[in-house]
Amino acid sequence: MKNIVLFGPPGAGKGTQAILLKDKYNLVHISTGDVFRYNIRNKTELGKLAKSYMDNGDLVPDNVTIDMLKAEVEKNNNVSGFIFDGFPRTESQAVELDTFLTEKDDSISGMVALEVPENLLVNRILLRGETSGRTDDQDEVKIRNRFKEYNEKTAVLQKYYEKQNKFYGVDGVGSIEDITKRLQQVFDKL
Ligand code: AMP
Repeated sequence: MKNIVLFGPPGAGKGTQAILLKDKYNLVHISTGDVFRYNIRNKTELGKLAKSYMDNGDLVPDNVTIDMLKAEVEKNNNVSGFIFDGFPRTESQAVELDTFLTEKDDSISGMVALEVPENLLVNRILLRGETSGRTDDQDEVKIRNRFKEYNEKTAVLQKYYEKQNKFYGVDGVGSIEDITKRLQQVFDKL
């Protein structure tokens, strides 16, 4: 299976690219942010729990997120692989994901990181907020907190996958089309 962690800071374009790449490679796209937003819209218990964290731009607790991710994977049998978008975001999520996949005789093929300088991202997110309806995209304080969470808890995952020789950085600045092409060059190798 091709199991790819699509990585990058908030606003790097992970969601946009995952939607384009999942069809090209016949992969299942799991965005933990999208699953949380779906649950919030439908007022489920999970949604109620996640909402307060997401509203502030904080990470949702690991145990909740990991259980949800596992359930999403289990919904898909006999697929050719997954694009994980927005997961893992902490080292303990990465460890749990490895353990979970190993139990299935499977593994992560690679982490593919969209590299975009932070100063380009805040405006990009505010612009997205004008149409996305996402409250966490409309308030600069919340956006800055998401970067803080990313820098403190998530950025370390680059090292985690580097140690396994599974890290691939891709320049995430440019047109959507150009970035898809760059990502494809990496996806083809995995
Ligand atoms: P995203 O759509 O990936 O930007 O995620 C939006 C928000 O959902 C984040 O700011 C977190 O509050 C929450 N979230 C999404 N994925 C995770 C995760 N893997 N771990 C913890 N919180 C998450």
